[in-house]
Amino acid sequence: MAAADHDAGAHGAARYLRGRTGVRRIRRKSRGAERQDRGATGRRTARSGRGASSGNRGHAHHRSYRRSGAAALAGIVLRRHDPGRSLADAPQRQAANAPLALRFNPAFADLLFEGSGHTYKELADLAAQGKPLPRFSLPATLRAKFRVEAGDLKSDNILATLPGSDAALAKEYIVVSAHLDGYGIGEPWNGDRIYNGAFDDAAYVATLIDMAERLHESGKKLKRSLLFVVVTGEEKGLLGSKYFAAHPTIRKEQLVANINLDQLRPIFPLKTLTTLALDESTLGDTVKQVAGAMDIRIQPDLEPERRLLTRSDHYSFMQIGVPAVGFIFGYEKGTPEEAVYRRWYAERYHSPADDLQQPWDPPAAAKFNDFFNRLVETLANADERPRWRAGSTFAR
Ligand SMILES: [Zn+2]
Repeated sequence: MAAADHDAGAHGAARYLRGRTGVRRIRRKSRGAERQDRGATGRRTARSGRGASSGNRGHAHHRSYRRSGAAALAGIVLRRHDPGRSLADAPQRQAANAPLALRFNPAFADLLFEGSGHTYKELADLAAQGKPLPRFSLPATLRAKFRVEAGDLKSDNILATLPGSDAALAKEYIVVSAHLDGYGIGEPWNGDRIYNGAFDDAAYVATLIDMAERLHESGKKLKRSLLFVVVTGEEKGLLGSKYFAAHPTIRKEQLVANINLDQLRPIFPLKTLTTLALDESTLGDTVKQVAGAMDIRIQPDLEPERRLLTRSDHYSFMQIGVPAVGFIFGYEKGTPEEAVYRRWYAERYHSPADDLQQPWDPPAAAKFNDFFNRLVETLANADERPRWRAGSTFAR
């Protein structure tokens, strides 16, 4: 799932904008606090991955943090702005206007709120409970200068087809997709710098590989063809799927449906599946039919304000007229599952804690995979291809 604040537009050459990290300067009142802080936070930005690799002194710039008040400043870590990227053939954002984005180490976030009457913990707790957040101004100020570098890089989408067996229907393709990118190596959380991306989205790339192997080895025949699309650059603004949508390897009229798998998270038993774009097309009917036979309840997105619909690769397919759906393990409001769901976002989403050590529910994962296999087979063998509902904004 692409982060909400990234809306940049990468197969092929991609442009990247990189905010170079530089020298940190913090006004402190207590040297004791300073030493303690440095011990606690390590060497921060100087080792924060590609954006801060070498030669930073030559590009040195300041991010300074000042604040008034009597309390000693304990220190603060400004996390490297993750480089933005957009497709090489897309209109460029002017580097000079690129917004400054910083991340705070949560351990020091209260510095921002001093004098505001609010604390970081209070706001984090509200967010974890899904409650509305207050609006208020911060007495603290932050000044920053930063240098932006632009360059090109290349990253591939990976595609495969499984030809259908029906003479007439084999020219139609069911697209199954997941994304292969994650966040790589970055700022440490609890001493861990590897952003494994286990559920977002490595597990679902594995699900596609598993499906392809199973179909290949069993020799099972599906009437329609399958197109496996494993895209790059999802986290940078759906870049790989946007590129594919703009340069499809199969005529888009032959792409009859897309089932996208992105961080579904089998972290509690599978009783409910939240289905993105449930009511946009007849795909929703097939989803309900297959789920119903497995005692899985289907519900629409309960939080459309988070715009999950537009934040993963199914959206790129919908925009070229291909009916699509995506899924998330769902919960009923007020249940322990909701608490587990929200805690995952607070503690693991896009962090090194999305790894193989996290608690998860293997039977739930297996049940979803079974559902997914049945759904794809049903769609591949159906007499009719999925259609947009009359009135859907995606219908043409
Ligand atoms: Zn993601």
